[in-house]
Amino acid sequence: MKRLEGKVALVTGAGSGIGRAVALRLAQEGARVFCVDLQAEPLEQTCESVLSSGGIALARRCDVSNEAEVRASVAAAAAAWGRLDHLSNMAGILRFDHFHEIALEDFRRVIEVNVYGTFLFCREAIPHLLKVGGNIVNTASTSSHAGLPWGGVYSSSKGAVLAMTRTIAVEYGRLGLRANSVSPGDIATPMSKGVKMPEGVDFSWMDRCKALAGPRPPEVVAGVVAMLASDDAAHINGEDIRIDGGTLS
Ligand code: NAP
Repeated sequence: MKRLEGKVALVTGAGSGIGRAVALRLAQEGARVFCVDLQAEPLEQTCESVLSSGGIALARRCDVSNEAEVRASVAAAAAAWGRLDHLSNMAGILRFDHFHEIALEDFRRVIEVNVYGTFLFCREAIPHLLKVGGNIVNTASTSSHAGLPWGGVYSSSKGAVLAMTRTIAVEYGRLGLRANSVSPGDIATPMSKGVKMPEGVDFSWMDRCKALAGPRPPEVVAGVVAMLASDDAAHINGEDIRIDGGTLS
């Protein structure tokens, strides 16, 4: 299905996991995709995958928490093909701590990437999106709905993303711009690999509340993002879609 023919999409976090799957799916649906991430090499791999499957993609390295880099990236994306129809904010970082041990600098860094990054890309993209009746998909998390033990920093950041997305939706909806979010949970990506766990945690409780056998690949999120980016979601605004198999954890 080619629901995004003629459209231009900007995807952050496009070098890995969900962001990469989203970039590939949007390209398969006909969008020209401007891919952004922290590291150049994985980003180039995503672009090569898009190109080898017949799509069109460009890559640009960008730290989403850096205002000047975000501004330059959005300007470059809009200039590349003369328009910007869609923004997917997929970049993010995760960490675990006992809540009473969270260091301010660690809290600040997660907020900088997950909240400032989403804010900066939305702010810079909105003027371009308004010109074409475009839309935004941000990435919240099941943790922003249900909380997440030892994920105090992360769930706080994703709660902010949820509120930010709803606000953009109600502020700009009557001007033709839609903003929605997805809340993934239990998606198999590199994110949780190598994340340091605090002492004494027991994650086995998570297995007890899974509604479906997980985890699932990032493509299950990409399909929903593509739907939200397309005219199939023309009357969906300010919505958050959980993609977690019913886990809510
Ligand atoms: P991932 O594979 O680690 O992808 C995240 C990407 O964001 C990585 O390429 C990472 O680069 C990049 N990134 C990190 N900091 C950045 C920065 N300052 N500037 C630009 N890019 C940066 O993780 P994922 O699971 O696909 O996560 C995608 C989104 O889904 C995130 O927002 C995450 O919070 C959300 N999410 C995921 C799950 C899940 O189950 N996987 C659940 C809920 C929400 P590096 O690899 O170089 O750090």
